[in-house]
Amino acid sequence: MRALDLGSVDNGVENRIRTEGTPQPFDITADRKGDPIQLTGTFYNQFAGFEGSFKGNLHNHVLPRRWGGDVENARTHYAERGYDFFGAMDHDEVVHVPDLPDLITIPGMELSLNAGHLLTFGLDDFTFPTADDPEEEDLKRIRSIHDRGGLAVLAHPNKTAYTWEQLQQFCDAGLIGLEVVNSGVTGKTADTGKFDQGWKLLLQAGRYLVGLGNDDAHGPHTDLSEWGGVPQVAWTGVFADALTQTEIINAIKYGRTYVSQGPRIDSIEFVPEAAQLRVECSEAVACHFRGIDSYGGDTTTPDEGLQASTFSLDLAERGYRIRDYVSVIVEDAKGRRAWTTPIPVDITEKAR
Ligand SMILES: [Zn+2]
Ligand SMILES: [Zn+2]
Repeated sequence: MRALDLGSVDNGVENRIRTEGTPQPFDITADRKGDPIQLTGTFYNQFAGFEGSFKGNLHNHVLPRRWGGDVENARTHYAERGYDFFGAMDHDEVVHVPDLPDLITIPGMELSLNAGHLLTFGLDDFTFPTADDPEEEDLKRIRSIHDRGGLAVLAHPNKTAYTWEQLQQFCDAGLIGLEVVNSGVTGKTADTGKFDQGWKLLLQAGRYLVGLGNDDAHGPHTDLSEWGGVPQVAWTGVFADALTQTEIINAIKYGRTYVSQGPRIDSIEFVPEAAQLRVECSEAVACHFRGIDSYGGDTTTPDEGLQASTFSLDLAERGYRIRDYVSVIVEDAKGRRAWTTPIPVDITEKAR
């Protein structure tokens, strides 16, 4: 592949969380497999301090011709199912549809790249630069969105032809996030539409990305959450102070999102007196706390056969496994998961 000299732009999300969020420091006596240690560090928990989360599907194709002339069907489908926000777009076209009383509309575009698609939000002007070289054109477009303060999110990464090197170049050009689950891909390709392992590998390569989950609804020809006869759903949860377009966009800019196939995450708070990261969620059978090291963190489960809606990462017992980040992954009784965008953490360990 030809090297492109674009420099490193960095999408800035991680820096925003670390510098503008509320640091939650800790200094505790802990244990590493029986050895006494002192763990000192800080959580930069972007989810802290919000009353709760909102639920949305940011990727929907809402041209009237796709919906038999009536895009109302798409919005009422989601409004009736308790969704709070709804992304409205089409391929290479901006579509303006009004809000419903309980459903905020986020205008965007699904921009065609040379070997994939890009979701774009938060721009007033949806025009993009071109270039003769296809690789250079894709990078210029991502950089242009980033430089204008918009959001560039790679849609359905499994359904693209990009290489590992190109994905990293996209990140360095200002890609802010990934559609970690696109339920519409299931039934159309050989995979499940999940890119959680690719997300994790990019994080390990130093590329911090925000996670989104969407249905990619195209019309009433199928149930909106069913593709190829396989019922699927994916949505994005955001932590925000209010349900407005600006707040939803800011929640993505500041990494306050999670991707869900079903479980809902209501709060993630560090509790200093207990030295625990505590998660409140819908009824679940397990909660995984994953550090950047795939062995990091821990899984907490309620007693066998039971479900719980509160889970904790106990730093005194399991903190030694956390490094750099912690992602919270909630799993329900049907095996459906919700993954948070990673919470940055600095942690150092000393023998005592
Ligand atoms: Zn697409
Ligand atoms: Zn689409």
